[in-house]
Amino acid sequence: ARKFFVGGNFKMNGSLESIEKIVESINNAKFDGTTEIVIAPPALYLLQVQSELKGPTEVSAQNCFTEASGAFTGEIAPQQLKDAKVHWVILGHSERRSMFGDTDKLVAEKVKAAIEAGLSVIACVGETLDERESDKTMDVVERQLEAIAGNVPESEWKNIVVAYEPVWAIGTGKVATVQQAQEVHDDIRKWLAKRISPSVAEATRIIYGGSVNGKNCGELAGAKDIDGFLVGGASLKPEFIDICKTVK
Ligand code: 13P
Repeated sequence: ARKFFVGGNFKMNGSLESIEKIVESINNAKFDGTTEIVIAPPALYLLQVQSELKGPTEVSAQNCFTEASGAFTGEIAPQQLKDAKVHWVILGHSERRSMFGDTDKLVAEKVKAAIEAGLSVIACVGETLDERESDKTMDVVERQLEAIAGNVPESEWKNIVVAYEPVWAIGTGKVATVQQAQEVHDDIRKWLAKRISPSVAEATRIIYGGSVNGKNCGELAGAKDIDGFLVGGASLKPEFIDICKTVK
């Protein structure tokens, strides 16, 4: 069985004070251990969160670069994340793809570098509204996954969580219906079975992101191939604890 996975992507939100409060509320929550929880604050706060967070909850970066060191002003190496005991990184988020030049190729190179540095990766894929409306959802998702697959040996898929985040559902309050999400998750799992292996397809967590909140998480979790969530806006609110307690 796949362990349920909930990620909190704070994006470029929060302060020393507000993030400390979130960490406190997570530390004080009673989780039963059935869900793996990972939170991703802005890079500036990674060390603070890493040191304050108790127990099995882990911290993630929101991005990293492809190189181990060098003249790359403003970037963070996967090896530096590893050094700082930040064991996770989100890569290929649609905001990075659309605003910061993260092409399929660059995302794939970042994933390769992160995996080689020993990190675990939340790899994000998803279509825009235009692409969905022109029936290109799986073309886009497969193209994004293929770039990654070309750079990751089969044995390393255990360190990858795939996040399906339809761009039209991110930050819009327009959550995908259970049926819409399940259909794509099922297609992604079939693709993994064909392209990588049936066992990787069976074991890989495919999580959903896009306007997940404390109210819709239960229904989404009921879908067979939804193995968790990547939560944006609601990860900054008290309801994040409820989302982490979603029963599959
Ligand atoms: P929202 O939950 O704010 O829609 O964001 C989703 C997301 O992009 C998580 O990475």
